Amino acid sequence: MEKKKPIKKPRGKVRLIEGKCIACGARCQSACPVDAVEMNERGEPIVDLAKCIACLKCVKVCPAEALEKFYTPEEQKLLEEIMKQHDVHYESHAEAEGIDDEAAKLKKKLAAYKGVWVFVEQFEGEAARVSWELLGTAAQLTARLNVDVSAIVVGHQVEHLCHEAFHYGAQKAYLIDDPVFKHYRTAPYLKAVKFLVEKYKPEIILMGATGLGRDLAGAVATQLKTGLTADCTGLSIDDKGNLLQTRPAFGGNIMATILCDRFRPQMATVRPHVMAMPECVTARTGEIIKEIFTLNEDDILTKVLEVISDKKGDDHIDIAGAEFIISGGRGMLGKENFAMLQELADELGGVIGASRSAVDAGWMPLDRQVGQTGKTVRPKIYIACGISGAIQHLVGMQDSDIIIAVNRDKDAPIFEAATYGIVGDLFQIVPAITRYVREFKQQKNICKV
Ligand SMILES: Cc1cc2nc3c(=O)[nH]c(=O)nc-3n(C[C@H](O)[C@H](O)[C@H](O)COP(=O)(O)OP(=O)(O)OC[C@H]3O[C@@H](n4cnc5c(N)ncnc54)[C@H](O)[C@@H]3O)c2cc1C
Repeated sequence: MEKKKPIKKPRGKVRLIEGKCIACGARCQSACPVDAVEMNERGEPIVDLAKCIACLKCVKVCPAEALEKFYTPEEQKLLEEIMKQHDVHYESHAEAEGIDDEAAKLKKKLAAYKGVWVFVEQFEGEAARVSWELLGTAAQLTARLNVDVSAIVVGHQVEHLCHEAFHYGAQKAYLIDDPVFKHYRTAPYLKAVKFLVEKYKPEIILMGATGLGRDLAGAVATQLKTGLTADCTGLSIDDKGNLLQTRPAFGGNIMATILCDRFRPQMATVRPHVMAMPECVTARTGEIIKEIFTLNEDDILTKVLEVISDKKGDDHIDIAGAEFIISGGRGMLGKENFAMLQELADELGGVIGASRSAVDAGWMPLDRQVGQTGKTVRPKIYIACGISGAIQHLVGMQDSDIIIAVNRDKDAPIFEAATYGIVGDLFQIVPAITRYVREFKQQKNICKV
């Protein structure tokens, strides 16, 4: 008997879904390789079905998901024939099409990744605070995704960090504990994290945007061929379960939200103090998954000869951890006037911060700079004196519990972010606040903090 000739699978066509086009500016027309898309006067596409080859380039670039693939009645008949020939029972043409459909493959690939991981950064067995902050963020993300929060702990004699991670909200901890990981070195840590990711496939990995975190996250993302958004200031989940990664872009003039919707894991770093510290509940426990992953020391090119701490003596002030910050900007007019801020800081038990203008002018050292290229702070009270409130400054302090702004310009943008605003001359207002605080403390018999 003569064998039936196989029918060629139809490619389908593309059409507009009514009411969804946002007239984005003819992106679909530009993407079409066969000139099958014309635009009408409302800026919506008209697809010439005779020319359309269903390459789906227009579907992919459409920001409003207003284009879809479909089969003409003739093509549907052919599909039915194919199904009969193969004796396959599909529930729909869409499923039939899914055999080799790129979107279906991608969906399947992404679905293999589950859970949100936080890399626990540690130095000599002590965790960096940002790791716990990220566990708090991870818990918010997993509430939408309905998956577990896990910690990755790599080091030597660091099992206690798994328990600490549980206190801050992790449900599981993946532990690699070996002398080779005593000190951080990029190559071995990269291999350890890559091993865990390839084995357990998390959908999201968060790391601190510290020196170590930036180094490791970049290396891991490169090896795993996935995306990484550095220095995020906001993280959330969209309707499709993708991580929305928000960060300042174009010199901080806009906030960009970045998606990594075709690769997994989705990776992001966040600076210390950007996210709120979650509650520490010591009664919380979790599951420790111990993995044996050893490397031969002789195969590692980098050797740690000595660890020199960058802690700068007892008088060094870390503004990132301060509860009260009194910051001065260009409106302070000179270095000598910061003594006035120091007086107020002393009364409140706080520290002095500065805008970049004040730092650039040489009035304050760089480690006091608050903002995008300085420190991110989250004090209980932030008092901004003579600071206009540029976006690059705001991103570093806008999450403070209370912001008090002193500025003589009533239209200064800092007032938009402020909880309380005082319009006037800081040279009168700041000493008046200091006097008030001093008298209040004397009345209440409160010692100097
Ligand atoms: C890539 C990039 C990164 C940056 N990173 C940072 C950063 O990390 N941190 C940062 O701060 N900036 C940063 N900047 C700079 C930022 O854009 C602003 O230029 C800077 O914050 C302005 O500092 P300022 O508010 O002190 O000065 P100005 O903008 O000059 O404001 C001075 C304010 O003082 C007020 N004033 C003057 N005299 C008095 C008075 N007697 N009493 C009361 N108010 C008075 C004025 O009304 C004015 O609002 C960055 C810029 C770029 C491009």
